[in-house]
Amino acid sequence: MLGMSVERLAELVVARRPCVVLTGAGISTESGIPDFRSPTGVWAQYDPMEYATIDAFLEDPVKVWDFYGKRLALLDDAQPNDGHRSLAELEDRGWVRAVVTQNIDRLHERAGSRALVEVHGSIRTSSCLACGTVVPFAEVVALLPVPACPSCGRILKPDVVMFGELLPEAAIERATQLAAAAGVLLVVGSSLEVYPVAGLPLETLAAGGSLAIVNRGSTPLDARASVTIDGGAGEVLRALADALPERP
Ligand code: NAD
Repeated sequence: MLGMSVERLAELVVARRPCVVLTGAGISTESGIPDFRSPTGVWAQYDPMEYATIDAFLEDPVKVWDFYGKRLALLDDAQPNDGHRSLAELEDRGWVRAVVTQNIDRLHERAGSRALVEVHGSIRTSSCLACGTVVPFAEVVALLPVPACPSCGRILKPDVVMFGELLPEAAIERATQLAAAAGVLLVVGSSLEVYPVAGLPLETLAAGGSLAIVNRGSTPLDARASVTIDGGAGEVLRALADALPERP
């Protein structure tokens, strides 16, 4: 069953290059990082309105850092899995033009992806909203549990996009260009429920490109996809890399 649909996906990628990949939390669950919307996800335990909005952060940064500090440790321990590795390999082999990710975990970068657009920021740095000082991950970890700006003392904000914040403009612009120019947009491990990123597949379709979705569970765009595979990201992407010719 899986073999047949992976074969169809490979045929689509061959026929409709270039391929741009859009990933979500589902590609990192096999690395031990819970996603958001599954029953075992982060939001089943923590109310996002209390911990992940910019207003919550401004009101009570100590409380948000209590949540976020634990998450940072988990994210830092995690290792890239077959899904991240297969995408880096497919980029090297000339099949994947770029990866657009909603994830903040840096696992694509650590797996070797080079053309990477992080539309929700990353844990790589935190910044001071008062004086603009940017502090790298290792220093932030050393400043936990409540990291204060080394220059002015205000509590730092992680450089990840919180609910209620705008996306980094250059990143979403680049992602939109990539989606519109994609022959095929391959969505991996995203519920496609968070906008504006969930609108990227519509850019591809409007420009005449095709959509493929690899996700456990359904998404609102399944009916518009040429291929949908309900399977684990690591296994499916490994099989896709094996099914494609070495190079285009
Ligand atoms: P989401 O939680 O809404 O959806 C994840 C989807 O992946 C679900 O449909 C789930 O069934 C599926 N899934 C889970 N494990 C899978 C696997 N092994 N293989 C295939 N599919 C799998 O996540 P999303 O769409 O990325 O939601 C958006 C928000 O979550 C984003 O803002 C993102 O920044 C944030 N997020 C990031 C991380 C991370 O950096 N690793 C983790 C959690 C959430």
